Amino acid sequence: MTIKDLPQGDEIAHIRDSVRKLCADFPGEYWRRLDRDNAYPSEFVKALSDAGYLSVLIPEEFGGSGLPLSAAAAILEEVHRAGANGGACHAQMYIMGALLRHGSAAQKAKYLPAIAAGELRLQAFGVTEPTSGTDTTSIKTFARREGDRYVINGQKVWTSRAEHSDLMLLLARTTAKEQAKKTDGMSVFMVDMREARKGGMTIKPIRTMMNHSTTEVFFDNVMVPAGNLIGEEGKGFRYILSGMNAERILIAAECIGDAKWFIEKASAYAGQRNVFGRPIGQNQGVQFPIARAYAQMRAAELMVHQAAALFEAGQDCGEQANMAKMLAAEASWAAAEACVQTHGGFAFAEEYDVERKFRETRLYQVAPISTNLVLSYVAEHVLGMPRSY
Ligand SMILES: Cc1cc2nc3c(=O)[nH]c(=O)nc-3n(C[C@H](O)[C@H](O)[C@H](O)COP(=O)(O)OP(=O)(O)OC[C@H]3O[C@@H](n4cnc5c(N)ncnc54)[C@H](O)[C@@H]3O)c2cc1C
Repeated sequence: MTIKDLPQGDEIAHIRDSVRKLCADFPGEYWRRLDRDNAYPSEFVKALSDAGYLSVLIPEEFGGSGLPLSAAAAILEEVHRAGANGGACHAQMYIMGALLRHGSAAQKAKYLPAIAAGELRLQAFGVTEPTSGTDTTSIKTFARREGDRYVINGQKVWTSRAEHSDLMLLLARTTAKEQAKKTDGMSVFMVDMREARKGGMTIKPIRTMMNHSTTEVFFDNVMVPAGNLIGEEGKGFRYILSGMNAERILIAAECIGDAKWFIEKASAYAGQRNVFGRPIGQNQGVQFPIARAYAQMRAAELMVHQAAALFEAGQDCGEQANMAKMLAAEASWAAAEACVQTHGGFAFAEEYDVERKFRETRLYQVAPISTNLVLSYVAEHVLGMPRSY
């Protein structure tokens, strides 16, 4: 069933139900095999894409379903709650926001319908660089204007899904940091990776503790048509920042899904596993960490909902989106810990999926933004304390 065939009424409830059914075709064995082989979940991404879930945020006039952010959050939460991993394809949901908000009419007409139809994949987001890290304004990748094109040189790191994407949204300097206000002089480009790979772009996979298809990308005189500049030259940093609240809310929803998966798995096991002649879940020492993680998850979930509601109302939600991401990532980690402890030795056996999900959910306290940086945002922008960097 595709998203367009869903019954009217409580749309989000129908979406949740339908995503659950889709994920049931991709059980633990599927993800375990990919994890072992470090392989990309092509079939899963195709199924999500064919059903229209990856284009829910694209307006109807461009072939998407024009649903609010909470619909996308519900989809990603259910994917993670089912034991699957949205990391293989979630970026398309928030990256295309930059194109939608800041792209020209011609760029939207060129890319959005093809993305919505699943013919083009916009999954790569090139922001982070090896020497700048979190300090994005210190990026060095440079796009030099030459007539009707830009020539790009530099390096990105942690560019996830680059080998499985047709397009990359790239942030590069167009003016040196020393020659402009540090947040100016950066620009956003839509890079056609199929062309770029033929002319100077090299992608090198990075093996990581979980299966995430992440890479390093090198640009050696890569030519990009000037028409692929998104919005105005020099304003790119603002365009990237404007999409970050959506990204944080969606990643937080994935963490809520992970937390629910761990809590359900731990509670079920605690009721079934008999040691000393009774279920281990009868011991409060086993119950309490799971119950505490549940309480943490429910509190974080409220913050995710509040952030999404503010976002949808067009209000500033920087505080809520950041806190939702931090609290949800901490809740999923607490749930992961409780799940491991409840399973004892069996948590370490591949076939239970606990160790895989444990590795996967740890990422979210570091990426796409680390906990310290969220705390620093709250301290400075919400509580008015002095700027630290
Ligand atoms: C698996 C994976 C996938 C990713 N996918 C993408 C992607 O698709 N596209 C992309 O552009 N990026 C991606 N990233 C990058 C990710 O956004 C960064 O790793 C993250 O923002 C942190 O940057 P860093 O690793 O350079 O850490 P650093 O900036 O080096 O920071 C290291 C540590 O120091 C702390 N720290 C740094 N400065 C301060 C400070 N002023 N105060 C307090 N603490 C501080 C940080 O909180 C962090 O814990 C990915 C990363 C990973 C691991």
